[in-house]
Amino acid sequence: MKKYFHSVRLLPDRCKGCVSCIKRCPTEAIRIRSGKAKIIESRCIDCGECIRRCSNHAKSAITDSIEDLSRFRYNIALPAPTLYAQFGADTPIEAILCGLKKLGFDAVFEVARGAEFVSRAIREYLAKGGYCRPAISSACPAVVRLIQVNFPELIDHLVPFAAPVEVAAKLARELARRREGLNPSDIGVWFITPCPAKMTAVRQPLGAEQSHISGAIAISKIYGDLLKSLPTEPADPACPRATHLGVGWAVSGGEASTLAPIHSLVIDEIHRVSEALDQVALGKLKHVDYIEALACAGGCIGGPLTVENRYVAEERMQHRAQGKQPVPVEDEMLEAVYRDVVDDGRLAIEPQPVMRMDDDIYQAISKVEVMEKTLGRLPGLDCGSCGSPSCKALAEDIAQGIASETDCVFKLREKVRDLAQEMVSLAEKLPPSLNK
Ligand code: SF4
Ligand code: SF4
Repeated sequence: MKKYFHSVRLLPDRCKGCVSCIKRCPTEAIRIRSGKAKIIESRCIDCGECIRRCSNHAKSAITDSIEDLSRFRYNIALPAPTLYAQFGADTPIEAILCGLKKLGFDAVFEVARGAEFVSRAIREYLAKGGYCRPAISSACPAVVRLIQVNFPELIDHLVPFAAPVEVAAKLARELARRREGLNPSDIGVWFITPCPAKMTAVRQPLGAEQSHISGAIAISKIYGDLLKSLPTEPADPACPRATHLGVGWAVSGGEASTLAPIHSLVIDEIHRVSEALDQVALGKLKHVDYIEALACAGGCIGGPLTVENRYVAEERMQHRAQGKQPVPVEDEMLEAVYRDVVDDGRLAIEPQPVMRMDDDIYQAISKVEVMEKTLGRLPGLDCGSCGSPSCKALAEDIAQGIASETDCVFKLREKVRDLAQEMVSLAEKLPPSLNK
């Protein structure tokens, strides 16, 4: 059986079985069983939607922490551009980068620099032509997983490049190795992440045997200490700075804007992404060159592991984009490794369809028949009180043998009523008792 790593976990003690999360999960990965939520691992894409949804804080994301830096001799922080949106525009990015070094990192490398390289690779790829239209961004790991499990027929539409954070990690490692003369095993590379899907992608990389990243630390986990560590004097982080082209990837539309002038479509929020992918699968968006698809509303600034409201974050990013921009640094060493990095021997992304009923075709056909018949008997209210997200999902669970028709409260009521009537009519047939 395939072993999964998932950053998103249930805290059973806090779960009240309220069913709020099961209705919002984009892959129908949650069931309520014995009064508690249960995540079906093969379906979960770590989008974090259930973390946002649960008012009882019964869902959380596992990430690494600053203490894990002690595993390595030399540690590099890879701040997601979204980190900058957690601070007012009066806090320069240089101060945030210096603050990270004060927290214990030996060096900082902006993920936005990786994004600049990926933008360039995608521009070259689209200019060459011959790709499956529309090409789809591979930057958001939750979207890539959604395609793997729900839309495997669209895998060839994904652009064949690693996400900016992986590219940044490889570049940062290479720089540290060449400039500091370090042994690769002594270098720890830590992504400061806005979302659990990125944590999962570190432990279970997509399109690669192994990630170049050692671990991921949630923005929400590091924010308080970072705030206290911000330098009060103007600071120089002593690292090549990214331009607004890379930093802009934090907000939805930022990636597509670096690819102009192509015909692109920007879609954010996982359910809207799912609807759009339905349309791609139907062949209705062939005239579009490129789709930027992001699981979180507003883009990475809306990630569940951030601390700032996404509208505030968006306004801050706009403000930063209008401010003084760093001049692009032509770093010869980075240029030298660029081609090697973008053609990183990426593995094919494997389809992982989880919606099929059975590997055996005859079994699958018979289960589909059971499912359809069962669905016809269910009330069609999609209320979720059975613990499955919809009547269709319950019918499927029944066909798979993991639920029963009486899990539906309406069917249970019918059954109780029928039993009561049967008992009444049996009682009427009873012979009179001897003492009457
Ligand atoms: S939203 Fe889901 S995880 Fe949270 S209490 Fe309700 S059932 Fe449990
Ligand atoms: S993280 Fe997303 S896919 Fe996984 S259980 Fe939660 S809502 Fe569903």
